[in-house]
This record gives sequence, structure tokens and C-alpha cells, in this order.
Amino acid sequence: MKKDDCIFCKIANGDFGTEFIIETNDIVAFRDLNPQAPEHILVIPKDHYDNISQITDTNLLGKLLEGVQKVTQKIGLKEFRTVINTGKQAGQSVFHVHIHILGGKELKPTFD
Ligand code: AMP
Repeated sequence: MKKDDCIFCKIANGDFGTEFIIETNDIVAFRDLNPQAPEHILVIPKDHYDNISQITDTNLLGKLLEGVQKVTQKIGLKEFRTVINTGKQAGQSVFHVHIHILGGKELKPTFD
């Protein structure tokens, strides 16, 4: 299901012509607009879920992680960090679930 006022739903729908690094029936991955590392890619489901806690379909959870593998294999990124912010307090700013993939530089071991 799509949510009308959701930017990531629109991206997943192809409304902005965003380049997808990978696309399957269920997920897409694209580059972050404001990259925090040389490689900063977001993996999202095409359907709308506000956050990871809303996904009850374990197949979809697996497909999102499979998306991480597909993206990193495709771009040849062997070392990377994945982040899923859930809720405002945790730093979530776009309320359509997404997995950040960050890499291409030395990342500090911080959880701040
Ligand atoms: P979060 O803070 O975990 O919700 O992450 C949201 C991410 O989405 C941020 O890293 C933003 O830079 C990124 N972002 C917001 N709007 C867009 C957009 N239109 N295209 C690509 N990335 C976006």
C-alpha cells in the first residue's frame, strides 16, 4: 500500500525518476540525497510502513536484508554499516522504513 504524502512512496513509484541501484517486486534501493559517507544508499520496501516495527511479514524483512546484500555485491562494497532508525528519538526523519547502507570510508564506532 502507498501513502499519498510519503516522499519514499513517491520515489519507489518512480515519480521523480530516481535511479534505482536495485529494484525487485518488493523493494528498491537508491542513493541518499545527503550522503554521510562516500557510499550512502537506502533500501526500502515499495509498500508503506512507517517503521521496521510495523512490518509483520518476515519474508519482507528478509527481502530488505537481501536487498542490502544485492546492493553491496553490485557496487562491490565489502565493508559497510547498516542502520535502521526507528522513531524520532532515534533519529528517524523519513517515516517510511529504510535501511541505510554506509561505507567507503573509516566509520567511527559510535552509537550517538
Ligand atoms: P532517517 O533520518 O533515518 O529517517 O533517514 C532519512 C534519510 O533520507 C536521510 O539520510 C536523508 O538524507 C534521506 N532523504 C530524504 N529525502 C530524500 C530523497 N528525496 N532522496 C533521497 N534521500 C532522501
